[in-house]
Amino acid sequence: MSFALHVDTPRWRAHLDAVAAETAGLVPVAKGNGYGLGLVRLAEEATRLGAAALAVGVAEEVAAVRPAYAGPVLVLTPWHPAYGDPPAADPQVVHTVSHTEAVDALPDGARVVVELATSMRRHGLAAGRWAARAGRLRRLTVEGLALHLPLASPGSYAEAQRLVADARAAGLPVPSVWVSHLTPAQTGMLADSLGLPVRLRTGTRLWLGDRGALRVRGTVLDVHRVQRGDRFGYRQRRAVAPGHLLVVSGGTAHGVGLEAPKAVRGLGARAKVAASGGLAVAGWARSPFTVAGAQRWFAEPPHMQVSMLLLPAGVTPPSVGEPVEAQVRMTTATFDRVVLG
Ligand SMILES: *Cc1c(COP(=O)(O)O)cnc(C)c1O
Repeated sequence: MSFALHVDTPRWRAHLDAVAAETAGLVPVAKGNGYGLGLVRLAEEATRLGAAALAVGVAEEVAAVRPAYAGPVLVLTPWHPAYGDPPAADPQVVHTVSHTEAVDALPDGARVVVELATSMRRHGLAAGRWAARAGRLRRLTVEGLALHLPLASPGSYAEAQRLVADARAAGLPVPSVWVSHLTPAQTGMLADSLGLPVRLRTGTRLWLGDRGALRVRGTVLDVHRVQRGDRFGYRQRRAVAPGHLLVVSGGTAHGVGLEAPKAVRGLGARAKVAASGGLAVAGWARSPFTVAGAQRWFAEPPHMQVSMLLLPAGVTPPSVGEPVEAQVRMTTATFDRVVLG
């Protein structure tokens, strides 16, 4: 049996609709593993929401969102001639340019957003650097400025205002602004204060903003009773106490890893687990699986498609075939199936 994502579709869509309703200029972001849901499903939802544009991470993903989304697709990773071949000419693709070399190398008329350097320091140039290239930029179709701001930073709104003012002062064309990681309210305020369309590129808050609509389930594949000292697994560890070994679907191929989930992330929390004399002291790790109301320990590092868990004596083991809930990081998870409920 498989490791599956179960979507409460009416609830999930109600959340998507609510985000779309409060965000004028929403640009859904569909990239990577599609936030666990898959790129095609996200592209379909972007179409259903009537999004005026969709953003993908890399140029290769444009093909993945077609034909489910037919409108303009923004590629978030900047294009640079040194990265590889020039992109195929496509009037429905908007490129991100973050280097002057890209401006020089793109074909006439290519649609672009011009990325300004922000406090992120990931990509982008200061307005003055772009202004020095204004003549070359005029060959391209500049859709607007791109601003990638840090997550939940109190200064982001003021930073966005300042950067747009810099760009205007430098004489850059600013028909619109494409931001990341402002709130919908800040986006609206920015649009009003600038008198410009402001588009908000959003992935996590949109697709994963109502986690209750998404449930991840493995399946109990096998149950073995063990006595203290019994050996098991690839590493032939010994059971430290009597109980049961559970073999559940969900392993490294699904992104089920050894990293402690959020609940025990952070030095303080880890110290507490260690101080409580928990298994962490002996190098054991808590699994993302919940069985009989508690998050269980891995019996050994997860295998490719299954994990072995420890269930202490006194807890009635589930039966073969029963579902097991798991908390996984959706941007690194791969599911055998996505079940739409
Ligand atoms: C991935 C990405 C986003 C979306 O990020 P979320 O935190 O998932 O909303 C927005 N802008 C850029 C430039 C990105 O790379």
